[in-house]
Amino acid sequence: MKKALVCGAGGFIGAHLVNRLKVEGYWVRGVDLRESEYSSTNADEFIFGDLRDPVVVGDVVSEDLNEVYQLAADMGGAGFIFTGENDADIMHNNALINLNVLDEVKKKKIKKIFYSSSACIYPEYNQLDPDNPKCSEASAYPAAPDSEYGWEKLFSERLYLTYQRNHGIAVKIARFHNIFGPEGTWRGGREKAPAAICRKVAEAQNGDEIEIWGDGKQTRSFLYISECIEAVRRLMRSNFTGPVNIGSEEMIAINDFAKMVIGISGKHISVKNILGPTGVRGRNSDNALIKENLKWAPSQPLKTGVEITYKWIVKQLNNLNQHVKNLQEELNPLLQNSDFSFKVSFIDVGDKKEKSIKNSV
Ligand code: NAD
Repeated sequence: MKKALVCGAGGFIGAHLVNRLKVEGYWVRGVDLRESEYSSTNADEFIFGDLRDPVVVGDVVSEDLNEVYQLAADMGGAGFIFTGENDADIMHNNALINLNVLDEVKKKKIKKIFYSSSACIYPEYNQLDPDNPKCSEASAYPAAPDSEYGWEKLFSERLYLTYQRNHGIAVKIARFHNIFGPEGTWRGGREKAPAAICRKVAEAQNGDEIEIWGDGKQTRSFLYISECIEAVRRLMRSNFTGPVNIGSEEMIAINDFAKMVIGISGKHISVKNILGPTGVRGRNSDNALIKENLKWAPSQPLKTGVEITYKWIVKQLNNLNQHVKNLQEELNPLLQNSDFSFKVSFIDVGDKKEKSIKNSV
């Protein structure tokens, strides 16, 4: 039986990857700072650990592993990456994780490692025209990513390639382009555009307006999670190193994406464009290299994945609202004879759900 380690197994893509590896008959160890918020892990062993700590990494990377998948990263959507407020953490934490994991893989003589890079490594100067962005793999240099997150990913791509060159480890590098789907972060500040827009539409009533950052003409492509996992597995089974794009070529303007979600919801909602962090003007995956080397392309249109994701977010929202209502009902009898009335709401502090009880006289 093959043994795999998934770093970042409590995260969105990591948790889906664990499920897929289990279906394929692997023995899987997961490691993360946290468990998935939405489902219990299917990993055979799940270790809570901080991969910035070399001692933890020494414990989780064992000699008997056949493959390591490195997906752990301190990351989030535009509201996390492009404000500048998290830059030092992003650079420091992510570089440390990659340095530690890769060096331990070398020490334990593990033969194969997957690294999750990002479309954020592509130069800003090739993504100024929303209708004609250029993101072919070879266009990465001269480098000019528009975020420190992208710079760290580029540094780490090069780091992984040096370990292949100097230490004979088979390295597989994917540049993910906006992966979305159920069990991805959908609130709290780290969510990405597809989940954020689905949530805003799910929260809105008929006649409401939802806010979209920027003028809405910025373009992106989005790839549904199961398609991404299939591509990762094909890359890992191949003799191809990459870096290779794993994304969709179905480019869409953000306002049009919002209209797609509104259409799926069946509600009458309008879009209001406001100032906000947006990233590059245009981005689309270029899949020529992956088609040629892995014979892979997305199997379904964007809308199919968006329909599934929208339904999942509606369900999360209903669950959360019900939970808040239950708490409110539990607290109110305790306060019947008091001059206070309580309103229960949830606020996000970092990644943790915290109960906040606000009282008003
Ligand atoms: P995610 O945030 O859901 O998962 C990352 C996981 O890493 C989290 O569970 C987090 O707790 C964990 N982590 C962070 N710091 C850690 C530490 N010090 N020790 C242990 N675990 C730690 O993100 P995701 O969307 O699943 O992305 C997975 C990988 O793919 C990341 O490397 C990300 O940069 C890359 N990527 C994702 C996308 C996307 O669209 N989702 C796009 C490009 C690249």
